Amino acid sequence: MPESVAEDLGKEIRNDILSKYDIDNYKTDKTNEFIKKLNFDKKVKVYVIKSRQFNAFATPGKYIFVYSGVFDKLNSYEELAGLLSHEYTHIDENHGLRSVGRSFGYEIFTSVFLSNDLKEQIFDNSNMLINLEYSRAFEKEADLNSINLMQKENIDANGMLALLKIMREIEPKRISSSELSDHPNTIERIEYIEEAIEKIENNSVTNYELETLFEEIKNNSGK
Ligand SMILES: [Zn+2]
Repeated sequence: MPESVAEDLGKEIRNDILSKYDIDNYKTDKTNEFIKKLNFDKKVKVYVIKSRQFNAFATPGKYIFVYSGVFDKLNSYEELAGLLSHEYTHIDENHGLRSVGRSFGYEIFTSVFLSNDLKEQIFDNSNMLINLEYSRAFEKEADLNSINLMQKENIDANGMLALLKIMREIEPKRISSSELSDHPNTIERIEYIEEAIEKIENNSVTNYELETLFEEIKNNSGK
C-alpha cells in the first residue's frame, strides 16, 4: 500500500471514528503533549475516545486512539509510555498497512465495535484469521520494541510489565485464552517482557514532566 493511499485511508477511518465517538479534548491535548515528549521519530496524532473500555489502537495515517477508560486503570506515566510506544511501533513498522488497524486491547474484536459497522470498515475478519500468526508476531515486536523506545528516553521499562499485568487483571479469562485473539496471550507477553527487561540495563530517571502530564490526563476531563 503506497504511503499516500495509507494517509487517505487513515484520514477516512479517523473521520469515521470522530463522527461516531465523543472525543475528550482535554485528555487528547494532554496526551499529544505527552507523546511529543517521548521523542518518537515519526509525528503521530493521538485521540482519546470517551469510553469506559480499556483499549487502544493504531491506524494508517499515523493515528493512535486511546479509550479514556485506559486512564481509569493506569497508575503511572511509565505504563502510559509503554502503551503509546506499543501503538507507535505498529505505525513505525507499518504493521497497520498489512492489517489496517492494530490494537493494544483485547476488546477490539469483541464488544467495542460489535454494535456498529465500524468493525467491518476497519478490520477485514477473513483476513484476520489468515493473518493471525503475523498479527501475533507484530504484537510481540511492538511489545519488545516498546522497551527499547522507553530505555532510549530513560523511562523505566517495568512500566510495560505493569501495563500488561493490569490487562491480565481486567481481561475476561475467556477472551484471554481465545484462539481468535490477535495478541499473544497476556501471560506469554508478561513472560517475554520480563525476560527482555532482565537483559537491559535499568537507566531510568524520573521524568517529572511526563509524571505531571500523566496526572493531569488521569484526573481531568474535557468536553
Ligand atoms: Zn498491538
